[in-house]
Amino acid sequence: MIYADNAATTKLDIDAFEAMKPFLIEFYSNPSQPYSFSLDSRKAIKKARQIIACCIGADPEEIVFTSCGTESDNWAIKLGAGDNDCIVTSTIEHHAVLNSCKTLERKGRKVTYIPVDQKGIIDINCVDECLQRGTGLFSVMFSNNEIGTIQPIRELARRAHKHGYLFHTDAVQAVGHVTIDVRQLEIDMLSASAHKFNGPKGIGFLYIKKGVELYSYIDGGSQENGRRAGTENVASIVGMATALKKNCQNMVATNNKLLYLTERLLRGLTEAGVDFIRNGSENGIPGNISLSFYDCEGETLLHRLDLMGICVSTGSACDNVNTQISHVLQAIRVPEKFAKGTIRISLGRDNTKEEVDQIIKCLVKIIRK
Ligand code: PLP
Repeated sequence: MIYADNAATTKLDIDAFEAMKPFLIEFYSNPSQPYSFSLDSRKAIKKARQIIACCIGADPEEIVFTSCGTESDNWAIKLGAGDNDCIVTSTIEHHAVLNSCKTLERKGRKVTYIPVDQKGIIDINCVDECLQRGTGLFSVMFSNNEIGTIQPIRELARRAHKHGYLFHTDAVQAVGHVTIDVRQLEIDMLSASAHKFNGPKGIGFLYIKKGVELYSYIDGGSQENGRRAGTENVASIVGMATALKKNCQNMVATNNKLLYLTERLLRGLTEAGVDFIRNGSENGIPGNISLSFYDCEGETLLHRLDLMGICVSTGSACDNVNTQISHVLQAIRVPEKFAKGTIRISLGRDNTKEEVDQIIKCLVKIIRK
């Protein structure tokens, strides 16, 4: 099997797995309990928070653990702006953000969606105009899950602040893949999810800059300094920190490899005479390759590749029940004859050049048929 759907999820890192094991079997106590049996769990959470904070240039107190990227996004969007404030976002956000916005709209809140250009970059000329209409929350994803495009985050954060907005970014596809320094980028809130960077599923975090007031989204006990209730998922928190640290340490080498593999894939398809468009910008998440093939059906390509032992996606994993053209492909205006034939090949750190050659061979065979 060739796994080329790393934007949907990644394989759990072996060191992360090993680091998690003691907290599933040996140190299973509730970290909130005052007895010494819980001391190891509490210490492990503290250390994990420090590691994660260090990886994104934050302070440990600014990291709040959540159950996933979706929860982090829901929290930031639904509670990041006051009841009378505006929410401004882009048209290509993940559904965790878009559907949170829809919920707010149903409650009478005003949400503005800024369009993107053909590479998926937010229309900077529209930003000032949209932000001038009030104050509130401006949320733009760091990088897009379907096409990999990275947004000019610092520029967007600065414009948000200039107009009195808080700036949130859904960095679920970016954390652990590209360098992020929340201070330097002037980010107020950032969502992340462990399973996108070789950590376990069902754990994420929200970075909340010191001074940003955000009510809790999950009410209950006083865990996470009273900011996010619920018994901590100690093993997963430890696994997330271990995976993130390792990915950050190996980032340059991994990304060089992914750029080489991407180049090899594109060259292989071009040399075979395949008619395709690569979606997104040159400045994208390494390994995230959205391809639209002329006069093909993405769904058919996916299933044929599956029969040949290759896992890819037609867009984002969350869009797969939907065979229509995704909101992202519509927003970047992929020509119709190509849009229907879109697949996302997302290579990860474990993919090899032999696997890429096999993907090329299989794709060429299917498309020629
Ligand atoms: N945001 C983006 C950009 C994503 O790609 C995803 C998952 O695909 C999410 C949010 C949701 O993250 P999770 O799967 O941890 O809920």
